[in-house]
Amino acid sequence: MSARQAIQLNNVTKKFKKTTVIDEMNLQINEGEFLVLLGPSGCGKSTMLRLIAGLEKANSGEILINGQDIKQDSYFANNFAMVFQDYALYPNMTVYQNLEYALKVHKVPKRERQTRLNKVLNMLNLTAYQDRLPGQLSGGQKQRVALGRGMVKKSNIFLLDEPLSNIDVQLREKARDEIKSMHDTSHQTIVYVTHDQLEAMSLGDRIAIMNNGVIQMIDTPNNIYNNPINLFVAEFVGVPQ
Ligand code: ADP
Ligand code: MG
Repeated sequence: MSARQAIQLNNVTKKFKKTTVIDEMNLQINEGEFLVLLGPSGCGKSTMLRLIAGLEKANSGEILINGQDIKQDSYFANNFAMVFQDYALYPNMTVYQNLEYALKVHKVPKRERQTRLNKVLNMLNLTAYQDRLPGQLSGGQKQRVALGRGMVKKSNIFLLDEPLSNIDVQLREKARDEIKSMHDTSHQTIVYVTHDQLEAMSLGDRIAIMNNGVIQMIDTPNNIYNNPINLFVAEFVGVPQ
């Protein structure tokens, strides 16, 4: 029996004006899977996430979430979290309020909110900054808030767009481990965008290697490393030639 599919893209094409950014994409992501989208800058990774989140409309093809076409269904909005590449924090809310907001909207009781927030603030070394506004934070701190805001939601589907790109090396490794252990203990389906090969290799159940709006290869980290399907994949994941 095959696993249930959380996310399905069938022949999805997305164009900006006349430029095709996602080209007849087919992709199935299993429930509970950690799928990494890896590819160079400009290959269409963020656009893919935004399509899945329903923030961009495909020109053709269909996107199914838990078997439901997102065009016909508003169910999805309540069941996903997203970490945006540009953070998209609420500028007039403190760090604590940024993390708490979605939980309040979803009527999570106060005690439970406090427990979840304290855990994540501590995990991402943000406790000392919890009363600051985003404008009073560095880029790396803002990115950690964006990551934490996604983590506290515990949604079925978690979309992350380069969530560690601006975090300093030591904290980045810790945050990467926290993301991994969060996935190990939850049943979340994760789509994780990065252009960092090491991050992809250490996190993904499978990695989809993208170039120019097309998935070149999708497989486990081991298979990609040991049997790259073409030169682009081999070079991109750094297989010695
Ligand atoms: P990545 O996240 O892999 O760096 P993006 O999905 O952001 O790539 O972008 C893919 C391509 O689509 C790029 O050439 C980018 O300039 C273009 N693009 C992205 N968003 C827009 C937009 N809103 N309008 C026009 N072009 C866009
Ligand atoms: Mg991007």
